[in-house]
Amino acid sequence: MESAMSEATSVRDKIRCDACPVMCYIADGKAGACDRYANEAGQLVRVDPLTIVRRRIDEGGEVVKFLDEGQDWDGDLISADTTFITAVGAGTTYPDYKPAPFIVSGQVDGVDMITVVTEGIFSYCGAKVKIDTDRHIGPEENLVRVDGEPIGHVTTGEYGSQMLSLGGVHHLTGGSKKEGRVTCAALLSLCNGEAVDMSVDDGADLTVQAGKPPIINDVKEERMRVGCGSATIGMFASQWKGLVDEVVVVDDHITGVMSEHQAGKVIGWAPTGIKIKGRRSTPGRYFQVAQPGTGWGGTDLTDPLTILGDFNAKVATPGQSLLMVSTTGEQFAYFELDESLSPIEQDIPDQLRPSLDRISENCEPALCSVLFMGGAGGSLRAGVTENPVKLTRSVKQMLTFVTCGGAPVYTWPGGGITVMVDVTRMPESSFGYVPTPALVAPIEFTMRREDYAMLGGHMDHVMSLDEAMVGKTGRQNDHILKGQRQVDMESNNPWPTSTDNYNWRSRVTSSRWDDG
Ligand code: SF4
Repeated sequence: MESAMSEATSVRDKIRCDACPVMCYIADGKAGACDRYANEAGQLVRVDPLTIVRRRIDEGGEVVKFLDEGQDWDGDLISADTTFITAVGAGTTYPDYKPAPFIVSGQVDGVDMITVVTEGIFSYCGAKVKIDTDRHIGPEENLVRVDGEPIGHVTTGEYGSQMLSLGGVHHLTGGSKKEGRVTCAALLSLCNGEAVDMSVDDGADLTVQAGKPPIINDVKEERMRVGCGSATIGMFASQWKGLVDEVVVVDDHITGVMSEHQAGKVIGWAPTGIKIKGRRSTPGRYFQVAQPGTGWGGTDLTDPLTILGDFNAKVATPGQSLLMVSTTGEQFAYFELDESLSPIEQDIPDQLRPSLDRISENCEPALCSVLFMGGAGGSLRAGVTENPVKLTRSVKQMLTFVTCGGAPVYTWPGGGITVMVDVTRMPESSFGYVPTPALVAPIEFTMRREDYAMLGGHMDHVMSLDEAMVGKTGRQNDHILKGQRQVDMESNNPWPTSTDNYNWRSRVTSSRWDDG
């Protein structure tokens, strides 16, 4: 009896966070399970500062405290043209029939714009990762693991890059508890720009970090290839003409052979009697010359001569020269045929060096790109409007511009609001998590006031940008905010409230003209 009483008392002394389905009881001075909310003297506080992006700011990145309660705001009007409240640190209202934490209005070019701001809880989310490398990282469909747990898989390779599809609802919720937890933690780190070590089944060990070179089996990748083997032949054919008798560009996908390739033919390249072991696709283009690997051109080759058969004695001549090079120019070797028409390696002649340098020069730096992908579900949309499908239609009609932390998103066609965003264009540490497990990502919907009203928006919860900037919280919020962090907008991002983002821009332009 006594113990039941004390438990009831201790629960009573705590406050309950209802910002996600976990519904933590939080004691004074402690944080909830996600570390995003805390109990400060009986008040639920969103502990990370609200992130404001500015177009021009003298000191980027500083944290500014809100005005103390009772202190007067000096009345300076804050322009939506230069100040944008992101959802980073804004908090979540849950369940989402409650209006989003901030619904903010401001004037841009004489147009009253409204931005609805919330930290969405995404159970349906993941990361698409592009790794610029030719090296084979593992067979497509094979699992990618962190701490032994499957968090995603290798997906279809792209031009010069290997691709991973990570996260998703199956790994977050469909496996063991540990799988969900590890997947969520890996996604959180990746999306917040941290390095994550992972391994591919029957493949490579990888270190992936957004905007940084990939590390594959402990080797930092430097260059993204100039093109496939066939493309490299085409690009450099005329530069090699007259300097060497034959060129083979070794590539796991399409190995190019100059004397047989159309690029060589049109400039009168003479046959050399070369024989390539591989599946001939079209003249001078060969598939499957070797197994995929981390050697020459994404093959498992350490000795390129392995892919050559005997030279045709009716065509080839002793002394004939041969350059073999990979698609990044990283590996190369020069040979001359001896009396028995066997290629013998020689020092690379000086006249060939500029062409090898040119290949390297045309390779871009190898990077990892991380795109967060998530679906704004029915309940998140309800925080914006009482009729969620209208928001979806408004986004598709380009009446509503969607951003994540102020960064532009790509919205997939078809149903729903499924977005992708480059995490390097978002403010630092934009993402959080809740232990359900799910990722917490900022999302903002910006539109004209009249369009917001049309889609059934929560008009009676709109506050001015000025009020939001001095720390006023909406009456729908159960929490207060800790402070502000002001950061510069990433220079390539469009300004979210700019009229250029909307399909009514032409009407605005013409009315400006009409006004004279
Ligand atoms: S996990 Fe975080 S958001 Fe969810 S209830 Fe606990 S403190 Fe609140």
